[in-house]
Formats: sequence, C-alpha cells, structure tokens
Amino acid sequence: MAVSISHLGYKKLSQMIFEWQAVDRTLLLALFIIMEVSLHWLWCLFVWWRQDALNSYVNMNYLYPLWLGISLVGLFFLCMVKCLYYSKNNNDSVLSKWQIALILVYTAYISTVIVMIGYSSLFAGVSLVGGAMLAMMLIKRRYAWRMFWLHIVLMLLAILSPYFGINLPNLRQLSVIHPMLASHNYLTYNEIMAAENAVAALAFENNVMNWDSISALQRSSALFWRSTHLYLALPKAIFMVYMFRALLLVLDDSKHETMRHANQDELTQLKNRRYGLKKMKYALSTVREYQDLSVMLLDLDWFKQINDNYGHDVGDHVLVEVSQTLLQSLSDETIISRYGGEEFLVVLPDTGHECAMLIAEQLRLSIAKHIFSPNGIPDFNVTASFGLYTLTHAERADIVQGYKTISQKKTLGQTLPLIKPIASQRAESHIGSMQKLPSDICQRLISMADKALYEAKHRGRNQVVSANNMLVEKDCGVLSLYQKR
Ligand code: GH3
Ligand code: MG
Ligand code: MG
Repeated sequence: MAVSISHLGYKKLSQMIFEWQAVDRTLLLALFIIMEVSLHWLWCLFVWWRQDALNSYVNMNYLYPLWLGISLVGLFFLCMVKCLYYSKNNNDSVLSKWQIALILVYTAYISTVIVMIGYSSLFAGVSLVGGAMLAMMLIKRRYAWRMFWLHIVLMLLAILSPYFGINLPNLRQLSVIHPMLASHNYLTYNEIMAAENAVAALAFENNVMNWDSISALQRSSALFWRSTHLYLALPKAIFMVYMFRALLLVLDDSKHETMRHANQDELTQLKNRRYGLKKMKYALSTVREYQDLSVMLLDLDWFKQINDNYGHDVGDHVLVEVSQTLLQSLSDETIISRYGGEEFLVVLPDTGHECAMLIAEQLRLSIAKHIFSPNGIPDFNVTASFGLYTLTHAERADIVQGYKTISQKKTLGQTLPLIKPIASQRAESHIGSMQKLPSDICQRLISMADKALYEAKHRGRNQVVSANNMLVEKDCGVLSLYQKR
C-alpha cells in the first residue's frame, strides 16, 4: 500500500503520541531536549566560527565553558535516550528515576543558558512556560510542576543577584563603548537594551531611517541578540503549540468517544434507553403548536424461545437485524432506541395518529417478512407486537391549560383533587423547559404505549394496538393519561 500524506496525518500522529506508554513519552521529551540542546550547540559553533565579527557582542571567555556544558548535557540526554530505548520494559520506579533526572538536569541546564543569554528575553519566557507545559503533557505532572517552581526561584535569584553584588557569567557584551558604560563591571540585560535603544534612537535621527542608520544599528549587538533569542525560542514555541493542539484534538476525540458510548447501545448501535428518553424529551419541548407526536413501543414475540432454541448469539443476531430494519424503514427525524432487552422505543415527532398507525403497520410487516438466516440454522421469521400512543396537539394544549389553571389555583391556596399529584410534580419540574408539560410526561406517554403493547400481546401478538383507540373504546377520556397509577 502506498503511503500517502494522510497516513502520516496530524490527527493520527497526535493520537499515537498520547496512546504511547509513559516510557515512550519520556523518550519523546528527551529527544525534544536533544533537539533544543543541538540548536544551542549550533549557535555556539556559529559564534565561534564568526568570532572575529562577533567578539564585540559575545564574551568569548564564557563561550567555551558554555559550549562544553552544552555538549556534556547533550551527551547525557543521548545516553538517556539510549537507555530508555533499550530498556522499555523497565519498571515504574526506574522510569520515575529517569524522569526526575531528566527534569532536574534540564531545569539546571536551561536556567544556566537563560542566565547567560538573557533572562528577560523571549527565549526565557518560552522556556519557562513552554518547558513546563510540555513536560506536564509528556511525563509525570507532579515532577514538572515542582521543577517549574524551582525554575522560577532560579530565575528570581538570577535577576536579584546583581543587587547583592554577585556577578553571574554573562555572554552578552556591549557593542557600544562609552566611558560611563565601560566603568560598570556588570550590566543587566535591561540596562544593556536601554543603552542600545538609545544608540538606535540616535541612529534614527530626525525619525528618518537611512542606510547609515541601519549599519549603525547592525553594529550594535541588539540585533544580534534579538535574532539569537528568536532562533532559540521559535522551535520550542512551535513544538509546544503543536503538542498543545495535539492534546486538544485527543481530548476532543475522547470526549466524542465517551459520548458515543454513553448514548449508544453497544449491540444494536441504536440510541440507548437513556439517550432515547433524552431525545424524546427534547422532541416534546420543541414540538410546534399544531403538531402531534406519536410514541411506539414494540416488543419481539416469543423471543425467549429463539434464545432457548438457537442460542444467545442467534438472539443477538436477530436484535441487530431488527434494529437495521427499524433504521432502514424510518426517517432520520424518528427517534429509535433500544428500550430494554428485545423492546424498542420509537418516537415520531410531528406525526398524527393515522399516519403513526400506518407506519407501525408497515414496520410490523417489514419485521414479519424479514427472513433470518444465521449460519447453520434453518431460516426463520420473527414477529413483533406494537403499542402506540399519539399525543395530539389538542390534548397537549389541554394539559398545558390544565397546569396553568392548577398553578393559578395553587397560588390562591386552592387545590384540584384529581390532578393534585401532577400539580406538585409540576412545581418540582423545570418550569418552561417542556412547554409547561409535566416532568414525567415521557414516562406517561410510554406507559400508555406499553398498555397498548400489553393488549397487543393479549390479543395474540404480531399486531398494532393503539392506546388512543383503547381510550375511546373504554370511554376513559383525555385525563386517562394522568390517572393515578
Ligand atoms: P413475549 O412475546 O411475551 O414478549 O415473549 P418473549 O419470550 O419475547 O418475552 P420475555 O420477556 O419472556 O423474553 C425476553 C427475552 O429476551 C428474555 C431475555 O433472555 C432475552 N434478552 C434480553 N436481552 C437480550 C439480549 O441482549 N440478547 C439476547 N440474545 N437475548 C436477550
Ligand atoms: Mg418479547
Ligand atoms: Mg419484552
């Protein structure tokens, strides 16, 4: 198979990084540090190579010790990578020791480099924040967090040390020699910048920039140190942003995955009961004034016998295929969920009673006609019984109106005996979130469909029974939906 750029996709790569073992992530961090140390090493090489031109900017006395230190640290991390790579099966305590060593050596190293190159620079900021963030993403957060504070303490000490007469080694050298400046042994980075900005301001005489001004600026060390700081900070910043984005992508993915598991039935891939009810509640809250809503419960007939005769796997197979039939036969707006073992809940928003009866009948026929032919078993059919209930817009308006009356009476200290329990329920419900319908309306509608389903089973199975028709037959009236159970 040809490898395309999509195979090296960013998303895949980020997923991989975060699915790695702790040791792999430590390795990645060590490799990143080697990259950073290599950049510092190359910088030293560049300065050494161009020392004739740069010795007025860089204090060459400190360059060699720094270069040696950088080389030693680079070697240390190379050894670490080698050890980690060849001993991937190390136990946790050995890995923890490596992680502590990595973060300690790196903190000491980067603090030293920052002090020597410029602790108020862009490079220092990126290192301070970025290093800690990167470490927290890739190794034990506890270590990275402690080292972050140690790093801050070291930086503060470096900043305060001149005030106590301690001169820390500083690679930066003044390019402008002035008797007043030369008389100072040590200048902080800010002071150097201030002096050099003054030179720059002089160079831009009358706010006009010309080639003379530019060459004057180039002669100052400011440009050199600024480009040095950019050179050191940018790769780190880019890598850090990359990792951060990768982390967010992985978080998005895992959130999506978690939601999928929380909402979906594992076997049938339909919505599960909880999510089906949530969607039903939402459908009820968004139904328009003149829209009816129908609820259907269907239960496979004699399903236990299928399990008993052919085994549980065949039973599962039937459930999956019935679910497929439901998905194929119903529109996308329909809410289909697995309500229980072999029981499915179908909610048809904006569907009147006649239409819902037709849909249920078609579904019943589709299921009954479907031939199941699992391996090694003679073909067979399965039937289902249906219970249906339609909440008409008129009935819904009655309910809403009924509650309004109850609420008003309640505020006047009166109660309505028949529907008192509902009134108290409503008081507990989230008023307004369901177009003023009671909080248990879903359960009530399903309970009506369930009664019709029970009747369908009672009448001989493989048929559709409407609870609305049952209510008319028994002359129960609208309020049966709310009678005390
Ligand atoms: P009826 O027509 O009255 O509904 O009879 P029935 O046999 O379908 O009803 P019953 O409730 O007695 O049996 C339902 C069976 O469904 C019992 C249970 O073992 C089976 N069942 C529930 N969930 C699953 C499942 O996920 N997979 C399989 N294979 N069987 C399941
Ligand atoms: Mg059944
Ligand atoms: Mg059942």
